[in-house]
Amino acid sequence: MSATLPIIDSETGGLRSPLAKPGILDVPTDTLRAWLAERRQPLMRVGQIRKQILANRATTFDAMSDLPKQLRVELADAFSVLSARVERHLFAKDDTHKLVIRLGDDRMIEAVLIQDDGRATACISTQVGCGMGCVFCASGLNGVVRNLTTGELLEQLVMLRNLTDANSTNPDRAPRLTNVVVMGMGEPLANLENLLEALSIAGDKNGLGIGARHVTISTVGLPAKIRKFAESGKQYSLAVSLHAPNDELRTRIVPTNDKTGLDAILAAADEFYEKTGRQVTYEYVVLGGLNDLPQHARQLAGLLTGRKAHVNLIPWNDVEGLPYKRPQDADLQNIIDTLRKNGVSVKVRKRKGSEIDAACGQLRRKVEVETNHRDTERFPAQRDEREPKESI
Ligand code: SAH
Repeated sequence: MSATLPIIDSETGGLRSPLAKPGILDVPTDTLRAWLAERRQPLMRVGQIRKQILANRATTFDAMSDLPKQLRVELADAFSVLSARVERHLFAKDDTHKLVIRLGDDRMIEAVLIQDDGRATACISTQVGCGMGCVFCASGLNGVVRNLTTGELLEQLVMLRNLTDANSTNPDRAPRLTNVVVMGMGEPLANLENLLEALSIAGDKNGLGIGARHVTISTVGLPAKIRKFAESGKQYSLAVSLHAPNDELRTRIVPTNDKTGLDAILAAADEFYEKTGRQVTYEYVVLGGLNDLPQHARQLAGLLTGRKAHVNLIPWNDVEGLPYKRPQDADLQNIIDTLRKNGVSVKVRKRKGSEIDAACGQLRRKVEVETNHRDTERFPAQRDEREPKESI
C-alpha cells in the first residue's frame, strides 16, 4: 500500500492517512491521560490543552503558554492541534465565509459562517456526503462515505470561530460564535452520538460557550432518532425537513419517506415538543411547479394548524445539473398567505452568501473536481437507505 492511501483507524472508526498525526480533539480522555501520565504530567493538562484550542484560539501547541515548553514540543510530535485543514476559503460581501475543509483522510466537507445582527452562526456538516438521497440536494449526489468524528465536528466550529473577530466592537459582528445550525452536509441524526458529544463540549464554558438554546439541528425526519434526540436533556432546537405535505409527493422528493411516512415524523416531532418545550421548525424547500401549488399550500396548512410549529420556506438554491426550478414569487407568496391565514407562523429563509455557492454540498463538488480528489473515484460511496430513485 502506498504511503498516501488511507487506512482504517480503529480508534475513530474512520479513515486516516498514516502520515497525518491524530487531531488532539479526537483523542479520548483516557488515552490522553495515559499519554500525559507517562510523561509525569498532571491530569489537569487535558483540560488545559482543550481549553487552549476551544476557548483561547490556540492554533499551535507552542502557543499554549500555560504548558511546560518540553511538553509542548512532545505534543507537537505526537498530535496535531487540528487534524483537518482549510482547502478553500470563500468570503462573500455579506460577511459569509464558506470553507471547504480537507479531513485527515483527504475527504472533503463544507462549513459556513453566517454573520448578521450581532450573531455569528456556524453551519456544520455531520457526514462526508449524505445517504438520504433527497433529489434536489447536492450533498447526497454521491451517497454517504462516513460519519464525522466528535473531533472533526468540533474542529469545524473552531475553524469558523477563528474567523470571527475576537476584538470586534461592531454591534453587527459578534466577537465569538453565538449560534450553531447543524444544516451542512449529512444527516445529523445518523451521527447522533458523536454530535451530542461535540455539542456538549462546545456548550461548556471552557469550550466554545455556545448555549444549547442557540443550537438547531436539522433532520430529514427519522422518528426513532428524533425521540432519542429529545432525551438528551438539553434545550437544543429541532428542524424537520418536510418539503412536501403528503406522502406520495414527499416520497418522490425525499426517498427515505418511503420507510417513515409523514404521520410518524409529525408524531415524533410532537413528542419532541412535549418533552423539551421547544417549538419545532419545519423546513420546506420550495421547488417551482413541484411542491408549491395551491393544494400543497392548503395541505401543509392542514398538517400544521394546531401544532406548535414554525415553517421556514427555502426557495431552492440551484444545483448544477439538477432539473429543478426556484419558485415564482406569486406561488411563494400564496404559500405564505395560506399558512398565515391558518395561524401557522412562517418565514422565508434569507439567502446568504449566494455568490459563493451556498447550496449545500455544491462547492465541495467543485473543489473535488478541481483538485482531482473526487471521493467517488477513489473510494466508491454507498447509499444508506435505498437505491437512488429516478429523478422527477
Ligand atoms: N440532512 C438534514 C440536513 C440537510 S441541510 C436534513 O435533511 O434536514 C439543511 C436543509 O437544507 C434541509 O432542509 C435540506 O433539505 C435543505 N437543502 C439542501 N439542498 C438544498 C438546496 N439546493 N436548496 C435549498 N435547500 C436545500
